[in-house]
Amino acid sequence: MRHDSARTCSPRKFTVQYLLFSLIFAGLTLLLLFVAVYFDGGKFVSETDALPDETTIQNDFCIVLDAGHGGEDGGAVGVNGVLEKTINLQIAEMLHDMLVLADIPVVMTRTEDKMLYDPNADFRGRKKMLDLRTRLDIAEQTNGGILVSIHLNSFSQSKYHGLQVYYSANHSNSLSLAETIQSTARTYLQPQNDRQVKAAGSNIYLLDRIQKPGVLVECGFLSNPEECAQLSDEAYLGKLSTMLLHAIFTYHAQCTEGS
Ligand SMILES: [Zn+2]
Repeated sequence: MRHDSARTCSPRKFTVQYLLFSLIFAGLTLLLLFVAVYFDGGKFVSETDALPDETTIQNDFCIVLDAGHGGEDGGAVGVNGVLEKTINLQIAEMLHDMLVLADIPVVMTRTEDKMLYDPNADFRGRKKMLDLRTRLDIAEQTNGGILVSIHLNSFSQSKYHGLQVYYSANHSNSLSLAETIQSTARTYLQPQNDRQVKAAGSNIYLLDRIQKPGVLVECGFLSNPEECAQLSDEAYLGKLSTMLLHAIFTYHAQCTEGS
């Protein structure tokens, strides 16, 4: 029925409808233009926008967050059975979300429970090496990248505990980032922690080879029952991630002052 009535529209009615349609179309176009200009000018940043690419982060500050291990490489095993790879990713994800909110560009080496190697490559006996090389490549290829690798410790004696930061000796900024994280942890998380930062040896592949600033944070000992229980608690991981964010802010401010 509606089809019939449309066919019997008078020329005048048609003109009015055409004018109305044109006005609505023009209005919508203006609205879309306004929205586009407003959000661009207001620096509205979505997570995708915040991810760096070659055009946006050249020579800028960008955190490359590396959640250690993954997939068949579980890392250390906690006294309560929890796997290091799982907690590493939880911490990295929490910190990632906070960095995005703070408008600091961030890249994750992994967001899933997997090792980073190409299954089509010849990986016999070399999975771990290929996995680490992929992580290194991501850090090196990210303009302005600063590597923060997240791990957990384990030792044969259960008495040892406390966060420990290692730094790469290849870039002078690595030491200041490591010291900032270690001291921020002492101030806000572990007042009794008197550990000193350590230069990484050749046994820490990423820090041994990276040419950009890089640190590895051993966030605690899974072999210590109390610390393992803390690291299995999301609320504690939230505090830990917030402390890391604070340290990154402090380091960033130091870099800005020094430049
Ligand atoms: Zn580890």
